[in-house]
Amino acid sequence: MIDVDADGVVAFTQALVRVPSTNDPGRREQPAAELVAALMREWGWEPAVYEVAPGRPNVVAVVEGGGGDGPTLMFEGHTDVVTEGDLSEWTVDPFGGEIRDGRLWGRGSADMKSGLAATLYATRALQLAGPFPGRIKVCALADEEGLMIGAHHFVSEGLATDVDGAIVAEPEAGEICAVAKGALRLRVDLAGKMAHGAMPQHGRNPVQALGPLLVGLRALQEELQARHPAHEHLGEVYVTPTVLRAGSEEQVNVIPAAASVFVDVRTIPGVEHKDIADRVAALASYDGIGAEVSVLVDRPPVDVPVSDPVVAALAAAHRAVTGEEPVYGGVPGSTDGTVLTHWGGIPSVVYGPGGKWIAHQADEYVEVEEIVRCTRVFTEAARRFLTGDV
Ligand SMILES: [Zn+2]
Repeated sequence: MIDVDADGVVAFTQALVRVPSTNDPGRREQPAAELVAALMREWGWEPAVYEVAPGRPNVVAVVEGGGGDGPTLMFEGHTDVVTEGDLSEWTVDPFGGEIRDGRLWGRGSADMKSGLAATLYATRALQLAGPFPGRIKVCALADEEGLMIGAHHFVSEGLATDVDGAIVAEPEAGEICAVAKGALRLRVDLAGKMAHGAMPQHGRNPVQALGPLLVGLRALQEELQARHPAHEHLGEVYVTPTVLRAGSEEQVNVIPAAASVFVDVRTIPGVEHKDIADRVAALASYDGIGAEVSVLVDRPPVDVPVSDPVVAALAAAHRAVTGEEPVYGGVPGSTDGTVLTHWGGIPSVVYGPGGKWIAHQADEYVEVEEIVRCTRVFTEAARRFLTGDV
């Protein structure tokens, strides 16, 4: 088994946690991206830095194996983290990077600065072990927690075209996740006609159209669930109205001209997003009320077969390093892997240190031992993928 720099990967995770690269205006990915680029240069790599938006760079380094022809493996991590939120909920400094009781604490410790550090140190370990076929593209991208502009930029720059497989280092508690749920966010705008509440016959009330629409959304969910049985790793399809807007409290005697419903749809493989948007548009047409459906977010489900070389290499590496049978799971939300697979055409698999449910919570932590173990798994997975030993 190839040796990894256990102290180095833990210390670098701490350094990353100590820079507050939250996905908020005013606090961006820049300082975390700079740390990554500096480490890469220290190792003699030549990172390319893409300014995706001001203060929001993607950092990409290609590490050639020098061992002849071979595939290209991508390691992916994101440099942004979600906000620390209410400090009174925390019992540790969210940006302290403190290690206590065998755990490394802080915002991003699990999601996913430890995973990002593991991809870097795994690539370095493989490089130091001698030549290998092909190459590894090590990528630290911006804005995974937002609109994923980093991953979209990566694809639109053409950087995905030569990649044969991607490992996305999100915290999945050691599960190998080759499937991810899809997300579709819709906005439905209902256009009626304003009128005095005393003379509703002169208006068209979009508020009344909300009722049948909400009932229809529930029926649509039931129909989709009946047609697409629950996925073993991803569960059910959900069609959830989350926001309603209409009228104003100060104008109880006015029939408003407009109403809106926002819908959060979560899908599994086999469900077509376009069909759902069309169905919702049909449901919204009611009694002379005009309806327009806008697609706010469209991230299709990911369904990479476990037989794909990148998944097989990871599973074999997990078995070799941990001595345990791999457990397959699914990603409940979407990740940069969704963008890489759907728009970049790269088979992706999500695997990384940290618990699935600890992400985005107060007192986020990762087990120190898990960071090191994951670095070993990544090293072995890369070796197997690039040499075809799966
Ligand atoms: Zn993440």
